[in-house]
Amino acid sequence: MTTVETVLVYIGLGSNIGQPFQQIKDALAKLAELPDTAILNDSGYYLSSPMGPEDQPDFVNAVVQLSTRLGVFDLLDRCQAIERSQGRVKTRHWGERNIDLDILLYGDELIDAENLVVPHPGILKRDFVYLPLLKINPDVILPGTGKLSELLARSSDAGADYDCQFSGNIE
Ligand code: AMP
Repeated sequence: MTTVETVLVYIGLGSNIGQPFQQIKDALAKLAELPDTAILNDSGYYLSSPMGPEDQPDFVNAVVQLSTRLGVFDLLDRCQAIERSQGRVKTRHWGERNIDLDILLYGDELIDAENLVVPHPGILKRDFVYLPLLKINPDVILPGTGKLSELLARSSDAGADYDCQFSGNIE
Protein backbone atom coordinates (compact mmCIF):
# COMPACT_ATOMS: atom_id res chain seq x y z
CA MET A 1 0.00 0.00 0.00
CA THR A 2 1.37 3.41 -0.95
CA THR A 3 0.59 6.09 1.60
CA VAL A 4 1.04 9.81 1.21
CA GLU A 5 0.08 12.95 3.13
CA THR A 6 -3.68 13.21 3.55
CA VAL A 7 -5.23 14.27 0.25
CA LEU A 8 -8.72 15.57 -0.53
CA VAL A 9 -10.26 13.50 -3.32
CA TYR A 10 -13.48 13.60 -5.31
CA ILE A 11 -14.82 10.43 -6.92
CA GLY A 12 -17.70 10.32 -9.38
CA LEU A 13 -20.00 7.30 -9.39
CA GLY A 14 -22.55 6.17 -11.96
CA SER A 15 -24.87 3.20 -12.43
CA ASN A 16 -27.83 2.38 -14.64
CA ILE A 17 -28.49 -1.35 -14.27
CA GLY A 18 -28.90 -3.79 -11.39
CA GLN A 19 -30.63 -1.49 -8.87
CA PRO A 20 -28.57 1.65 -9.49
CA PHE A 21 -29.42 3.45 -6.22
CA GLN A 22 -28.28 0.39 -4.25
CA GLN A 23 -25.15 0.02 -6.42
CA ILE A 24 -24.11 3.59 -5.60
CA LYS A 25 -24.82 3.08 -1.91
CA ASP A 26 -22.84 -0.19 -1.84
CA ALA A 27 -19.87 1.43 -3.60
CA LEU A 28 -19.90 4.27 -1.07
CA ALA A 29 -19.83 1.77 1.80
CA LYS A 30 -16.83 0.06 0.19
CA LEU A 31 -15.01 3.36 -0.30
CA ALA A 32 -15.62 4.10 3.40
CA GLU A 33 -13.87 0.83 4.28
CA LEU A 34 -10.67 1.60 2.37
CA PRO A 35 -7.60 1.86 4.58
CA ASP A 36 -6.52 5.36 5.67
CA THR A 37 -9.62 6.79 4.02
CA ALA A 38 -12.68 8.64 5.32
CA ILE A 39 -15.77 9.85 3.49
CA LEU A 40 -16.28 13.54 4.28
CA ASN A 41 -19.34 14.33 2.21
CA ASP A 42 -21.52 13.11 -0.62
CA SER A 43 -23.74 14.84 -3.14
CA GLY A 44 -26.75 12.60 -2.82
CA TYR A 45 -28.26 10.90 -5.86
CA TYR A 46 -28.60 12.65 -9.23
CA LEU A 47 -30.65 11.22 -12.11
CA SER A 48 -29.63 11.84 -15.72
CA SER A 49 -30.38 10.63 -19.23
CA PRO A 50 -27.77 8.34 -20.74
CA MET A 51 -24.84 9.86 -22.59
CA GLY A 52 -24.11 7.90 -25.79
CA PRO A 53 -26.54 5.10 -26.74
CA GLU A 54 -30.05 6.21 -25.74
CA ASP A 55 -31.63 2.73 -25.65
CA GLN A 56 -30.56 2.17 -22.07
CA PRO A 57 -31.97 3.11 -18.66
CA ASP A 58 -31.36 6.51 -17.04
CA PHE A 59 -28.27 6.84 -14.89
CA VAL A 60 -28.00 7.43 -11.19
CA ASN A 61 -24.89 9.48 -10.39
CA ALA A 62 -23.24 10.83 -7.29
CA VAL A 63 -19.99 12.45 -6.24
CA VAL A 64 -18.22 11.67 -2.99
CA GLN A 65 -15.55 13.70 -1.20
CA LEU A 66 -12.90 11.65 0.62
CA SER A 67 -9.78 12.24 2.56
CA THR A 68 -7.22 9.54 2.00
CA ARG A 69 -3.59 8.68 2.47
CA LEU A 70 -3.69 6.15 -0.38
CA GLY A 71 -1.52 6.99 -3.37
CA VAL A 72 -3.48 7.81 -6.49
CA PHE A 73 -2.63 4.63 -8.43
CA ASP A 74 -3.40 2.53 -5.36
CA LEU A 75 -6.74 4.34 -5.13
CA LEU A 76 -7.43 3.66 -8.83
CA ASP A 77 -6.73 -0.07 -8.31
CA ARG A 78 -9.08 -0.11 -5.36
CA CYS A 79 -11.83 1.70 -7.28
CA GLN A 80 -11.50 -0.85 -10.07
CA ALA A 81 -11.65 -3.67 -7.50
CA ILE A 82 -14.91 -2.18 -6.20
CA GLU A 83 -16.26 -2.09 -9.78
CA ARG A 84 -15.34 -5.75 -10.25
CA SER A 85 -16.80 -6.76 -6.87
CA GLN A 86 -20.13 -5.30 -7.98
CA GLY A 87 -20.05 -7.30 -11.20
CA ARG A 88 -18.89 -4.58 -13.56
CA VAL A 89 -18.39 -6.05 -17.00
CA LYS A 90 -17.37 -3.95 -19.96
CA THR A 91 -20.14 -3.60 -22.50
CA ARG A 92 -20.26 -1.04 -25.30
CA HIS A 93 -18.55 2.34 -25.08
CA TRP A 94 -20.67 4.67 -22.94
CA GLY A 95 -23.03 1.74 -22.49
CA GLU A 96 -24.91 0.46 -19.50
CA ARG A 97 -23.00 -0.40 -16.36
CA ASN A 98 -23.56 -1.68 -12.83
CA ILE A 99 -21.12 0.73 -11.39
CA ASP A 100 -18.47 3.13 -12.62
CA LEU A 101 -16.01 4.95 -10.37
CA ASP A 102 -13.96 7.85 -11.73
CA ILE A 103 -11.30 9.75 -9.82
CA LEU A 104 -12.31 13.34 -10.57
CA LEU A 105 -9.76 15.23 -8.47
CA TYR A 106 -6.86 14.09 -6.32
CA GLY A 107 -5.72 17.06 -4.25
CA ASP A 108 -4.21 19.62 -6.57
CA GLU A 109 -2.37 17.04 -8.66
CA LEU A 110 -2.22 16.95 -12.44
CA ILE A 111 -1.75 13.39 -13.69
CA ASP A 112 -1.45 12.37 -17.30
CA ALA A 113 -0.58 8.68 -17.34
CA GLU A 114 -1.64 5.97 -19.76
CA ASN A 115 -4.24 4.58 -17.36
CA LEU A 116 -5.08 7.69 -15.35
CA VAL A 117 -5.90 11.28 -16.23
CA VAL A 118 -6.64 13.67 -13.35
CA PRO A 119 -8.48 16.04 -13.21
CA HIS A 120 -10.91 13.75 -15.04
CA PRO A 121 -11.33 15.21 -18.54
CA GLY A 122 -15.13 14.83 -18.40
CA ILE A 123 -15.72 17.20 -15.48
CA LEU A 124 -16.50 20.30 -17.52
CA LYS A 125 -18.49 18.44 -20.17
CA ARG A 126 -20.82 16.39 -18.01
CA ASP A 127 -23.57 17.97 -15.95
CA PHE A 128 -23.98 14.71 -14.02
CA VAL A 129 -20.41 15.23 -12.81
CA TYR A 130 -20.14 18.98 -12.25
CA LEU A 131 -23.56 19.50 -10.65
CA PRO A 132 -22.99 16.99 -7.81
CA LEU A 133 -19.37 18.14 -7.49
CA LEU A 134 -20.45 21.78 -7.10
CA LYS A 135 -23.12 20.77 -4.61
CA ILE A 136 -20.40 19.40 -2.32
CA ASN A 137 -17.99 22.27 -2.94
CA PRO A 138 -19.23 25.34 -4.86
CA ASP A 139 -15.70 26.82 -4.75
CA VAL A 140 -13.89 23.75 -6.07
CA ILE A 141 -10.79 24.47 -8.17
CA LEU A 142 -9.66 22.40 -11.15
CA PRO A 143 -5.90 22.39 -10.64
CA GLY A 144 -4.08 24.03 -13.50
CA THR A 145 -7.32 25.44 -14.93
CA GLY A 146 -9.31 27.50 -12.43
CA LYS A 147 -12.48 27.68 -10.40
CA LEU A 148 -15.03 25.20 -11.75
CA SER A 149 -18.02 27.57 -11.42
CA GLU A 150 -16.20 30.30 -13.37
CA LEU A 151 -15.00 27.89 -16.05
CA LEU A 152 -18.56 26.67 -16.54
CA ALA A 153 -19.91 30.21 -16.77
CA ARG A 154 -17.48 30.83 -19.66
CA SER A 155 -17.92 27.44 -21.35
CA SER A 156 -20.23 27.11 -24.35
CA ASP A 157 -20.68 23.35 -23.71
CA ALA A 158 -21.87 23.66 -20.14
CA GLY A 159 -25.59 23.34 -19.70
CA ALA A 160 -26.14 22.55 -23.38
CA ASP A 161 -27.69 19.21 -22.51
CA TYR A 162 -28.68 20.19 -19.01
CA ASP A 163 -30.56 17.13 -17.98
CA CYS A 164 -29.59 16.11 -14.51
CA GLN A 165 -31.63 16.40 -11.34
CA PHE A 166 -31.04 15.88 -7.65
CA SER A 167 -33.05 12.89 -6.57
CA GLY A 168 -32.54 12.40 -2.84
CA ASN A 169 -30.03 11.86 -0.10
CA ILE A 170 -28.01 8.68 0.24
CA GLU A 171 -29.34 7.33 3.53
P1 AMP B 1 -14.49 3.82 -17.78
O1 AMP B 1 -15.05 3.14 -18.97
O2 AMP B 1 -14.92 5.22 -17.60
O3 AMP B 1 -14.67 3.04 -16.51
O4 AMP B 1 -12.91 3.91 -18.03
C1 AMP B 1 -12.04 3.04 -17.37
C2 AMP B 1 -10.62 3.33 -17.84
O5 AMP B 1 -10.32 4.71 -17.69
C3 AMP B 1 -9.63 2.56 -17.00
O6 AMP B 1 -8.82 1.84 -17.89
C4 AMP B 1 -8.83 3.61 -16.27
O7 AMP B 1 -7.47 3.23 -16.16
C5 AMP B 1 -9.01 4.83 -17.15
N1 AMP B 1 -8.95 6.13 -16.46
C6 AMP B 1 -8.27 7.21 -16.90
N2 AMP B 1 -8.42 8.24 -16.07
C7 AMP B 1 -9.23 7.83 -15.06
C8 AMP B 1 -9.75 8.46 -13.89
N3 AMP B 1 -9.47 9.74 -13.60
N4 AMP B 1 -10.54 7.72 -13.07
C9 AMP B 1 -10.84 6.44 -13.37
N5 AMP B 1 -10.39 5.78 -14.47
C10 AMP B 1 -9.57 6.46 -15.31
